[in-house]
Amino acid sequence: MSRGRTALIFGIGGQDGSWLADLLVRRGYAVHGTSRDREASSFANLRRLGLFGRVHLHSAGLNDFRSVAQVIKEVRPTEIYNLAGQSSVGLSFDQPVETLDSIVHGTVNILEAIRFLGIDTRFYNASSSECFGNTEHGPAGETHSFHPRSPYGVGKAAAYWAVANYREAYGLFACSGILFNHESPLRPARYVTQKIVRGAADIAEGRADQLCLGDLSVARDWGWAPEYVDAMARMLAHDQPEDFVIATGRLHTLEEFVRLVFDCFGLDWRRYVEIDPGLRRPADITHSVGDPGKANRLLGWSAETTMPGVVAKLVEAERIRRRDGSPAGNPAGSPAENLMSIPLAVPA
Ligand code: NDP
Repeated sequence: MSRGRTALIFGIGGQDGSWLADLLVRRGYAVHGTSRDREASSFANLRRLGLFGRVHLHSAGLNDFRSVAQVIKEVRPTEIYNLAGQSSVGLSFDQPVETLDSIVHGTVNILEAIRFLGIDTRFYNASSSECFGNTEHGPAGETHSFHPRSPYGVGKAAAYWAVANYREAYGLFACSGILFNHESPLRPARYVTQKIVRGAADIAEGRADQLCLGDLSVARDWGWAPEYVDAMARMLAHDQPEDFVIATGRLHTLEEFVRLVFDCFGLDWRRYVEIDPGLRRPADITHSVGDPGKANRLLGWSAETTMPGVVAKLVEAERIRRRDGSPAGNPAGSPAENLMSIPLAVPA
C-alpha cells in the first residue's frame, strides 16, 4: 500500500470522522476509516457528505487489540485519528463501563499497536473539555487542572494521560486535542443542540407544541465542527507533538442557544419550552469555556464561527433537510439532500 499521505480514522462514521474524511479527501489523502461493524453501519454521515465509496472502510473494535493492530498493519497510515468511542456524556452515566472501556482501553490499544508494529505514524486523540469539569473562573487553557464530572470525562482524562505518557516514555508523535463542544447537522438527534433545532422546527410546522429540556442555565463554548477537524489536522502537521485546547473562547447559556433557535423560526421560546427536572444529570458542568490562545499562536487556528453562527447554520441545514423530504431523525436522508449545497465545510 502507498505510503503517500494516508490517514486512518477510527470512528469515521461519526460527526467528526465524516467531516475530517471530507477535509482530508479534498487535501489529496488516501482516507481509510473504521466502524465497529462495517457491514452493519449505514455510514449515513459519509453518504450525506457524498464520501461513501471515496474512502476505504474497515471493521475494527477499539477494545479488541487484534483488530486494531490488524487494520493499522494493513493500512500503514502516516496519520491516525482516534475519533471513536462512546461520546455521549449523558449516556455515560447509564453505561459507565462501556464508556470507560471504549475510551481508555481503546486509546491504549491504538498506542500499543503503534508501538508494537513500530510504524512511523502521527497520532491524534480526541480528548474533551469534559476533562476540566467546571471552568467558572474563566477560559481553561492547556495547563488548567482536570476535575471531570462524568464517567465520560473520567475516561477522557485517563486517555489524555495515556497519550502524554506514551509520548514521553516512547517518543511517539502522539497528541490530544482538548476540544470544546462543536456542532453540525451530522450530530445525532439525541444531542441537546439537535433536539432544540428539530424541536423548534417541529413546532414551527405545527407537528409539536412543546419541547422538554433540562437545565437552561448551563453555559457552554459552542463551535463549528468542520473548523474543529481542521484544527486536528493542524496538530499532526505541527513540528512537534503537543496537546491543544480547541475552543471559541466565548461562553453562552443554553437559554441563549434556545432563544436564538426559536427566533430563527419566528417563535417565542418561552411559550413552548417546558423544563423537565428529570432531564438533569447526576452531576453537570455549569460553565465550560476554553482558551484557544496556544492553538492561535502555534497552529494559526482560530474559530471563525461562534454560537450565533452555529445556530444559523444548524437551522439552515435543518430547513434544507426538511424541504428535501428527509425523514426526521434519519440523517441519511434522500440522495437529493446535499449538505454541501450550503457552505458548511472549511476550504481545503
Ligand atoms: P460520534 O458519536 O458522532 O462518533 C463516534 C463514533 O464512535 C461513532 O460513529 C461510532 O462508530 C463509534 N462508537 C460509538 N460508541 C462506541 C462504543 N461504545 N465503542 C466503540 N466505538 C463507539 O462522536 P463525534 O464525532 O461527535 O466525536 C468524535 C470524538 O471526539 C469522540 O471521541 C468524542 O468523545 C470526542 N469529542 C467530541 C466533541 C463534540 O462536541 N462533538 C467534543 C469533545 C470531544 P461505529 O458505530 O461506526 O462503530
